This record gives sequence, structure tokens and C-alpha cells, in this order.
Amino acid sequence: EVLIEARGVCKTYGNGVAALDEVSLTVARGEVVCIVGPSGSGKSTLLRTLNAMEPISAGEIRVLGEAVHDRRTNLNRLRTRVGMVFQAFNLFPHRTVLQNLMLAPRIVGGVADAQAREQALRLLDKVGLGDKHDQYPGQLSGGQQQRVAIARALAMNPQIMLFDEPTSALDPEKVGEVLDVMKALAAEGMTMCVVTHEMGFARAVASRVVFMDAGRICHVDEPQRFFDGS
Ligand code: ADP
Ligand code: ADP
Repeated sequence: EVLIEARGVCKTYGNGVAALDEVSLTVARGEVVCIVGPSGSGKSTLLRTLNAMEPISAGEIRVLGEAVHDRRTNLNRLRTRVGMVFQAFNLFPHRTVLQNLMLAPRIVGGVADAQAREQALRLLDKVGLGDKHDQYPGQLSGGQQQRVAIARALAMNPQIMLFDEPTSALDPEKVGEVLDVMKALAAEGMTMCVVTHEMGFARAVASRVVFMDAGRICHVDEPQRFFDGS
């Protein structure tokens, strides 16, 4: 079952930079696709187009059966079904960890307070932060904040998770704890697209590795073949 299908996607920014040049990609349910390549090659732009955060200049993208860049598509609904995690954790600084997780389900999802709270606590346990629910983001390490951000994205019960360099802003010793949470998600069968420079993660977890250069997908392969050429 195909969950993401991008065909012939082109994206030129207002300043004339052609960030995506005829990019096509399909992602099936349960796949973990790692997108790698040099800085400026269009990885982040591609990921953002999948969530309609970035308009496209040409081509078509369907996510969960919806035409992402069709004006008639309900983007709010689509975005609840596609979770996104960024390099910067983007937590609400004046809300506790628990409140950060409860906000979207209550306001966007219309979930009752008690139920949102119960789910938030369950998700915090899952990312190993059950004891931090009353803390504010600024009291946590970068790795802990990013795990909260992942839990917050999961709180909307997404079908797909997009990660844009989720460990790039972390101290090296904090990278592993975030990758472990992502590995566990992958093992549960979550469909994931991950822009990353963590080649060990890509090799161990990806079902496919997509290599981008200068706005194009240059190479797609299974990780063993991609990294070992075998
Ligand atoms: P990557 O994620 O591989 O580093 P990006 O998708 O961030 O690549 O960037 C691709 C190209 O588009 C780069 O040349 C970058 O400078 C340019 N770019 C990215 N975002 C913008 C923007 N908002 N406005 C103009 N150019 C941008
Ligand atoms: P990334 O980690 O995705 O490579 P960058 O450091 O390239 O991010 O860009 C950081 C922010 O600046 C992003 O929001 C991106 O869209 C924007 N940006 C990147 N390149 C340009 C550019 N040439 N002109 C305008 N905005 C840009």
C-alpha cells in the first residue's frame, strides 16, 4: 500500500534557486526511507513538500490518497495524519512537557482532557520521559526535548512520521537516545521519511536509502547495497 507518491516534483524558490528538479519517490506503508546527501541538495525541501509546508512549482504529490498541493485538500486534517519532527525541537517554552503533548489533541483533535492526558503520559513513558511531565522544555537536555517533540508528534496518532535532521542540533552523546526512540518506532511498523547524516542509523534501520544531489534523486537502494555495494 503506497502512502506517499511524489511524481516529477520541481520546486524553485522565489530567489530562483531550483531546490527540486523532477523528483519522484514512492513510500509504502511500514517503510523507513532515509534521505541522505550533501547540504543544499534539497532534502529538507523535499520533506517539507510532503507535508504541504512548501508549495511546489510542478509535479504532483499524493499522501494518504490526498493530493497535497490541491487547493481543495484539507491540509489541517492531512497534517494531523503526518507527524513532523524538526532539527530545532520547537516545543512551547512556557508550557510543561505534558501540556505540550496535550495541546494539539485537545484543540485540533477535540479529544477530552482526561483522555489526552492519559495518552500524553503513555507516550512520555514510551520515549523514556514519564518522570518529566511537569518540567518545562528549558529544564531538559536537547536529547530529552527532541524525544518530547517526537512524543508530541505521535500524540495525533499519525500514519506517517517525517524527520528533518532530528539529531543534528544535539550534543554527540545525546544522539543515540533519540535514534533509539526512532528505531523503536520503525520496529513497530511506523512509516517514516528521515533526512539524516547518521549513516549508521540509515544502514541499520532504512528499508531504502535515497541519495540526493543538486535537487535530484541520484540513487535509491537497499541500505546494505547502498553502503557496502554488495
Ligand atoms: P538540504 O536539506 O539538502 O540541505 P535544502 O532543501 O535546505 O537542502 O535547500 C536546497 C536549496 O534550496 C539550497 O540551495 C538552499 O539554499 C535553498 N533554499 C532552501 N530554503 C530556501 C528558502 N526558503 N528560500 C530560498 N532558497 C532556499
Ligand atoms: P537545512 O538544515 O535544511 O539545510 P538551512 O540552514 O539551509 O537548513 O536553512 C535554514 C532556514 O533558512 C530554512 O528555513 C531554509 O528554508 C532557509 N533558507 C535556506 N537557504 C535559503 C536561501 N538561500 N534563501 C532564503 N532562505 C533560505
